[in-house]
Amino acid sequence: MKKSLFPAWTLSQEKAVFVNQHHPSPDLDDCFMLFQDRDLLLRDRAFVYPVPPFSESKIITREFLGIYENRNCYAVLVQGCTAAADDAWFSMREVREILSIKNYAMASRGLQLAEWAICQKFCGRCGEINKRNGAARVCSCCGKEYFPPVAPSMIVLVHDGERILLARSPSYPKNLYSILSGFVEPGESVEQSVHREVFEEVGIKICNLEYVASQPWPFPHSLMLGYQAQYSGGEIKKDPTEIDDAHWYAIHDLPLIPSMSTIAGWMIRKRQHDLGING
Ligand SMILES: [Zn+2]
Repeated sequence: MKKSLFPAWTLSQEKAVFVNQHHPSPDLDDCFMLFQDRDLLLRDRAFVYPVPPFSESKIITREFLGIYENRNCYAVLVQGCTAAADDAWFSMREVREILSIKNYAMASRGLQLAEWAICQKFCGRCGEINKRNGAARVCSCCGKEYFPPVAPSMIVLVHDGERILLARSPSYPKNLYSILSGFVEPGESVEQSVHREVFEEVGIKICNLEYVASQPWPFPHSLMLGYQAQYSGGEIKKDPTEIDDAHWYAIHDLPLIPSMSTIAGWMIRKRQHDLGING
């Protein structure tokens, strides 16, 4: 019997170590995760510290996130800090390969909320100071409310029997191929965005879209919605501004693909799994 292949980030969060809360609890200890230039400070695999290991003068902002492992948890943005001997800065892409799914989700939430807090200090309508109110920021003068942004984007595995379409963006690591993705535009459904992006990037038509799964994507604040779709016509014609190279590949003979910690890597392996092929 075939084993199922779940993406861990879609599993229930009932046993999550994090509790969403807007104010710290006075009877609990604190803990801090530290970010600098979108990198996270790690000590071995630990990503929270009992006190920030840098002086107050280096701290740009400190944002309360909720309760993590029974401690008040804050995301702290710092600047001009050199990591101590036991610590090191890691990019969020590196962190995704190091931390557990739950801890990575926590770090991703921390980075997004702390960055949003410094970008949303002032009201965009009247320029006055915003104050925190629950999950929102509210203008102290005109009362306009602001909520943390989540930008939907889509990713799609296009298949044609035992072939799948893979492409390279100029920004990918050397030799890496993946499935197509792009941002949803204002006024567009996710499905329309999938059709549009595939046609714009490689000039082909698709049909029979099926939603598969989603993954939070903190680059900078997206939610990746994963679809698979059937090829329905056209020849590959690359958009050279977005795509370096694109080909059909036999599902049992693929080039270098993203890791399982990404929805792209998981969806490609799921397709292999669904067709009874070991990647
Ligand atoms: Zn205002």
